[in-house]
Amino acid sequence: MRTLIAGNWKMHGLQAQIGEIAAMARANAGGPSDVEVLVCVPATLIAHAVQAADGVIQIGGEDCSAEEAGPFTGDIDAQMLRDAGATSVILGHSERRQGHHETDATVAAKVKAAWRHGLATIVCIGETQAQRHDGNALKVCGDQLAASLPDIPAGACTSVAYEPLWAIGSGTMPTREQIIGVLGHLRAALDERFGSTSQSIRILYGGSVKSENALEILDTPDVNGVLIGGASLLAHDFNAIVDVA
Ligand code: 13P
Repeated sequence: MRTLIAGNWKMHGLQAQIGEIAAMARANAGGPSDVEVLVCVPATLIAHAVQAADGVIQIGGEDCSAEEAGPFTGDIDAQMLRDAGATSVILGHSERRQGHHETDATVAAKVKAAWRHGLATIVCIGETQAQRHDGNALKVCGDQLAASLPDIPAGACTSVAYEPLWAIGSGTMPTREQIIGVLGHLRAALDERFGSTSQSIRILYGGSVKSENALEILDTPDVNGVLIGGASLLAHDFNAIVDVA
């Protein structure tokens, strides 16, 4: 399985920043084929980013509706993301779970919608600081994984991103042992539920990933890639992480 280096621009980026995508693509042209590079951008930028990416890096969305086309003002469905040139979509990010009250069931419905339209998904899970403090991190993450990830039909593609909420945008990292603990638990759950199909599911780590800590994270057992927020906005920072992968 190829290592996935994925960026999440969140609610950042205007057309003026598309040059960053072009610079990421230039740096990766002819690069090592054992690393897959994806940048997930706001829906307004997807088509522009696809053009700038020039087929060298993949472009994804950050959310999609669970519904198909219909009377859902302001929503964007999976087919629209695909039509704009996205190959993947992030679903169930904690900022959507918390800010938009998305439940595991909502996330699972969105994942199915994305798969129907041929998008690869990155399903995000992670515990809060209080849940970790109370010793519930493994249970919370295991339960979220079980309920957010539907049974996988043939041909569907997914990654799971472990993003402890207290590590997102905080500069605070879990210890190597904490990452190993959660990821080992998730991998065992995927193996038990999906059998050999588990081997096609990447587990990513996300939360305060920078070029300075990327190598250590990517060297951690069961880490198959990273999901990067702040350090994915500038090609200079993002390329430095791709370089160590
Ligand atoms: P930061 O890398 O900015 O901590 O964000 C992580 C994240 O939420 C990626 O989805």
